[in-house]
Amino acid sequence: MRADIVRTQLDHNIASTGWKPVSLTEPYGRSKTRYAGKPHGHRTTPLSHPVYNPPMSVGRSLFLRCFTSPRYFAPLPPGHVFPMRKFPDSAAKLIESGVIPHTIDPGVISDLDLLRVHTPDYVQSIRTGRYNEITARRLGLPWSPELSGRSHAATAGTLAATRAAMVDGIAANLAGGTHHAFPDRGEGFCVFNDVAVAIRALQHDEPYIQCMVVDLDAHQGNGTNAIFADDPHVFTYSVHVGKNYPSTKVPGSMDVELSRWASADEYFDRLHETLPPAVERFEPDIAFYIAGADCHEDDRFGQMKLSTADMAARDRYAIRLLRGWSIPTVVLYGGGYNKVEGMTTALHCQTVEIAARGLGSTSASAKADPTSRNT
Ligand SMILES: [Zn+2]
Repeated sequence: MRADIVRTQLDHNIASTGWKPVSLTEPYGRSKTRYAGKPHGHRTTPLSHPVYNPPMSVGRSLFLRCFTSPRYFAPLPPGHVFPMRKFPDSAAKLIESGVIPHTIDPGVISDLDLLRVHTPDYVQSIRTGRYNEITARRLGLPWSPELSGRSHAATAGTLAATRAAMVDGIAANLAGGTHHAFPDRGEGFCVFNDVAVAIRALQHDEPYIQCMVVDLDAHQGNGTNAIFADDPHVFTYSVHVGKNYPSTKVPGSMDVELSRWASADEYFDRLHETLPPAVERFEPDIAFYIAGADCHEDDRFGQMKLSTADMAARDRYAIRLLRGWSIPTVVLYGGGYNKVEGMTTALHCQTVEIAARGLGSTSASAKADPTSRNT
């Protein structure tokens, strides 16, 4: 389903229940009690244009809305290290295993949305295959018409999942988290910066919306950090390996750097001590959770030591923390290059299954508990 159709349905649902557009003075889907005596400084001035603020029950899906499309797959040369099959394989596996009844096709991203982040020259170069010099050197993906189509479709998926998360509380793009893409170039298998495109689209509707990127991919999101370096309404949080790609880091709002092959205990200690205060202090209206599968111990590039069970504990922790605060959460794949055949797909599916279970878990009991690592 295209984002504009989601929006149209939302409009229809609101109209059919008598809801009127309102000036937004409260965040989406939050309880007002949480803000008692704690007003949002950036929301003291009502917006000049109407914004829908539906209650969570209006237009809400009964299952986790997951966006994907056959376009997400682009053929690569034999032996290429990027596991392109993970996109169709994970979608099929999630349906076969009953986690979701079906997926939703997000269409392709519009020029209007793309050009809020990327330069016209760069967008044109991706469509024609005439990569600029840095992209040719650093992207790591050979051009094809399908690669261009994949990049446009997967970016639309993150924007559609963002709109869905605003209504449902949580939604997933079965791809995305391409955080190494800069406005004028691609790097590290990342063509367009999907999270940045989604955030800029939200900001177009609501300039003061607070967006948080919770990036638990093993690598730092240098492109995302560069794009939002001067934006006080976007908080980029990342746990990553310090001495790993990208060699030149771009400072984010909070960078938690680990040594290579840090133990799982150290990983969780750092995550538990830094993520909750970051969320509490920033008070995001929406979070983008990049659940990189490359933190797994058998990954080719991640240089981390999380077991499959640790990866599940990480996902549960992040999702429960955000859902516990009723923060709309967009779940994205990030990287994953496992040496074990099919493991990258399995890890992404594990993340989505945990997100699907979290669809209804907004009660206080779902608040993150550091001891939940082994639950
Ligand atoms: Zn990565």
